[in-house]
Amino acid sequence: MSNKCSFEACERVPHALCHGCKSNFCREHMFQHSLATHLQLNPLIDQVNQIQDQLKGLDKMVILQKSFQQLEEWRQKAHLAVDAYFTEKIQELDAYAMEQMKQHEEELLEIRTRIITSMNEQDTTHELIHLLTFKIQSLQRDIDRLTQNDFHLQTNPLVIDKNTINYEQVFNLTNILSVHRAIERSGKSYTPLATDNQVLLLHRQDSLVVTDESLATLKLAPWKFGPIYDMCYSSVLKQFIIITEHEVFVLESNTMVICKVRSIPYQEWFSCTCSSTTLYLSTKVYSSSIVEFNLLRSMSFIKRWESPDTCSREEAIDGIFYNNDKLAIMISNDQQRFARLELRAATTLTRIWSMALEIIYSEKQAYRFCLINRDEWLVADHANSKLIHITNDGKMKAICEYHPTPCCAMKMGNNILAVSTKSAVQLHKF
Ligand SMILES: [Zn+2]
Ligand SMILES: [Zn+2]
Repeated sequence: MSNKCSFEACERVPHALCHGCKSNFCREHMFQHSLATHLQLNPLIDQVNQIQDQLKGLDKMVILQKSFQQLEEWRQKAHLAVDAYFTEKIQELDAYAMEQMKQHEEELLEIRTRIITSMNEQDTTHELIHLLTFKIQSLQRDIDRLTQNDFHLQTNPLVIDKNTINYEQVFNLTNILSVHRAIERSGKSYTPLATDNQVLLLHRQDSLVVTDESLATLKLAPWKFGPIYDMCYSSVLKQFIIITEHEVFVLESNTMVICKVRSIPYQEWFSCTCSSTTLYLSTKVYSSSIVEFNLLRSMSFIKRWESPDTCSREEAIDGIFYNNDKLAIMISNDQQRFARLELRAATTLTRIWSMALEIIYSEKQAYRFCLINRDEWLVADHANSKLIHITNDGKMKAICEYHPTPCCAMKMGNNILAVSTKSAVQLHKF
C-alpha cells in the first residue's frame, strides 16, 4: 500500500484502497473519490434520455425505405426473369408445333405418292393395303392430337428458395441443428478459421484453402510454415493474417501469395485479431502479453500490454477478438483449471465485464470464440464438445452439445456459422 493519498498534492496517510482503480486515498479524499464516481452516473442518464428521444423520433418507413426499394428492384428483376423464361418456352413450343406439322405433311405426301405409284403400276397387295391403312390411322391420330392441342404440357409451380432474400438473421443455437455443408479433412489439419464474410479460409491436407458458402474450393495454396495458431482478416489490408508459433504471415486470397511480415519480431505468438488500424497479437504461455502493430504503417510496433494489465502471472490468453473499440479476451488458468471471457476497452484494456465459463479446462487446445449477433459471443468448448452462446453483457445465453468436437467457430456473411473440428469443417445456415 502506498504511503501517500493518491489525490493530487495531498500528503496525508492513506485510509482506504479503491478496489475499482486500485488507488489509495485519505479519509477525506476517499469520500470525494466515491462521490466523483457516483456523479459519473449523471452523464450516463443524460445519454440514456437522448437515445430514448432518438428512438421515439425514428420513422419506421424512413428506416425501411432503402431496403424496400432494394426489394422492389429484386421483384422487378425477378418478374423480368419469369417473363424471359415464359417467352423462351412460347417460342420453343411454337417451333415444336411447326416441326410436327411439317413432319405430318411429309408423311402424308409419302403415303399419297405410295398410293399413286401402286395405282399406276397395278401391283397392290393385301400387305400394302394393311400398311397404308395403318400409316393413315396413325397419322390421323397424330393430327387429332394436334387439333386437341395435346402436347402433354406440364407446368411445375415456381418454388422460391427461402434463402433467395436474406437479411441480418438472428443466431441462436437451436437453429443450427442441421449441417448445411461439410468438408472432410485429416486430423493433421490445423483448426483455425478466418473469413472476410464472403469466403472462408481453412487449412486442409497441407494447403490453405479459400472456399465459398457452399464449401467449394475457390483457391488453394500449399502451406509449409508449420502449425497455424490463429488466423484473422484485415479489411483495411484486404488480406488474411496467419499466425504460426513464431511468425506472422499475410495471404492475399485472390493470388494466394503468402508473405512473411518482417517488421513483426520472432516471438511465441498465439492469437490475433484486427481493428481497422491495428493488428493485436497475444503471446503464448503464462503471463501473456498483447502487442499492437499498425496496419496502416507497414505493421510497425505500437505498444505492448503486459501482465497484470492483460492477465495474472499464472494465466494465459487463449484468444482475442476485436469488435467496436472493444477487445474480447479468453483467459485460461491452468492451475485452477478454468477459463473466463472478458470484454475490455481496446485502448486501455479496462475491464467491462468478466465471465467465468463453466467448462473443464484442458490445456491441450486453446479456447477459441467468435463474435455473433453484433455484440454477442460464441465459444467453441472443445473439452466438453459444446457451443456456448454468451450475451453482450457477459451472461450465459444458451449452450448445446456439438459433435464432432468444435475447435473453432466463425460467423460468415449474414447467416452462416462455420465450425471447425479436427476431422471436418461444417457450415450451418441460420
Ligand atoms: Zn477508484
Ligand atoms: Zn487525500
